[in-house]
Amino acid sequence: MAVAPGDIRFEVAGHLTGNFIGGQWVAAQSGQRRADVNPADFTDVLGEFAESGGADVDLAVEEARRALDGWRALGPVERAAFLTRALRILDERSGELAYAITREQGKLLKEAAGEVRRAEAVLEFTTGQARRLGGVTAPAEEERTFAYTFRRPIGVVGLISPWNFPLAIPMWKVAPALLAGCTAVLKPSPLTPLTSAVLVDVFRAAGLPNGVLNLVQGDAAAGEALVANPAVAGISFTGSLAIGTAIHAGGAHRLLRTQLELGGKNAVVVCDDADLDKAVEAVVHGAFGQAGQRCSATSRAVVDVRVREEFLERLVARVAHLRVGPGFDEASELCPVVDTGRMDAALAAIAGAQRDGGKVVCGGGRAERADLPDGCYLQPTVIRDVPWDAELAQEEVFGPVLAVVDAVDFDDAIRIANSVKYGMSGTVFTASQARAFEALDRFEAGMLHVNRPGVGAYAHLPHTGAKASQYGPPECSPEVFDFYTAWHSACISY
Ligand code: NAD
Repeated sequence: MAVAPGDIRFEVAGHLTGNFIGGQWVAAQSGQRRADVNPADFTDVLGEFAESGGADVDLAVEEARRALDGWRALGPVERAAFLTRALRILDERSGELAYAITREQGKLLKEAAGEVRRAEAVLEFTTGQARRLGGVTAPAEEERTFAYTFRRPIGVVGLISPWNFPLAIPMWKVAPALLAGCTAVLKPSPLTPLTSAVLVDVFRAAGLPNGVLNLVQGDAAAGEALVANPAVAGISFTGSLAIGTAIHAGGAHRLLRTQLELGGKNAVVVCDDADLDKAVEAVVHGAFGQAGQRCSATSRAVVDVRVREEFLERLVARVAHLRVGPGFDEASELCPVVDTGRMDAALAAIAGAQRDGGKVVCGGGRAERADLPDGCYLQPTVIRDVPWDAELAQEEVFGPVLAVVDAVDFDDAIRIANSVKYGMSGTVFTASQARAFEALDRFEAGMLHVNRPGVGAYAHLPHTGAKASQYGPPECSPEVFDFYTAWHSACISY
């Protein structure tokens, strides 16, 4: 599908609206379909995508099971050749993918292009791990004995992904799963079916053997069927805490292996010695980039009261001028949220924060401008004086809403930062080296930043959280293979 810049309402190739099972694009057996709507313009419907049920999932798992032995037998170096080809095709189709992401998820086109680059980085990094996927030799306790460890793929895996990074997150599951020798069934979010379809089509074009990677579109019914299928050896899930917990509990009776990447309520701590301009820029980027819809989004600024007024003045001056608009408009600085459900939840969170004593100093409602299409546009919202234990300071909103929470000093700020059940990212702005290291030591969070935005991740670093943000081995980084493979030991006497 060639997409010219500016040709926003491109046609979605018909076959991409189905499932991809056993190497074929097929319609869902359920016979049901769901409309994929552009959140920036409700009149723009991309297409009707498969809404699958248990029978579709079981078929896909069966195809993945059938493909397993052959795929595993290739070994990581040969498998990597498929990934290398996929990387080349991904690069050729990068424009198409960025357009698909913006059109169905809503983020700015430059944010979508950044996501494509991130997916490429993950694929490139993973491919390079092929020659490192070994074990260790170990001392033996008896003489004339050789002891070593090695990894085996765990088998068929189910990959369940959210809508906020519809390309990068499926990629950081698919790439290591395939390299490890697992075969997979991807069940993406029903809000972003096109991006995942193109992703799978990239691997098809790379010549992947039939059944190695399957795609089943749908929502809870498909996800539950994947968790329930006894041939599935592991589920890698990214999404909300509630669904992640349900998946873990649903598979516990058969000791299903799970990798859960969950929510966040991330704090940027602004100390009294911070560079306030840098802190403001980082908070604006972390809180309002992608309309706050990142697991590592900055949703709390925990600010020392001695610099609070100055920080707020500079922050509000900056945020008030952010231009809300469609992702395809180059003048837009803040994209719409993904759907009306998310928009209503953010508006309810703003109202709740005001009931709890918070004061809206910027935004606070829907963005209404004559030139905006009918879509999910919210004003960038800053709420000050939010008590540290108020719902807005404790629960994920996943929208462009920032809670500013007072701290009397550094210790108080760290206590507040750690007061939530989540622990995805933690960020501190300070001129003091000692405070920076102390914060790194004390933050109850997986991904830590000093004097820089609290968002962003490298393909070679673990994408990981503490507490209720994460369960199981991290994604990205070499450690991801601890999910997709099982360790074995062998002792050989001679
Ligand atoms: P969600 O939990 O609603 O859905 C995630 C996926 O689970 C979707 O594919 C959905 O169809 C599927 N699903 C829904 N019900 C299911 C069930 N009963 N059984 C199995 N699967 C089911 O999350 P979302 O709204 O798509 O994404 C937003 C959430 O994702 C936020 O909480 C965010 O913090 C989190 N997230 C986390 C990370 C991370 O790396 N930790 C990254 C991105 C997003």
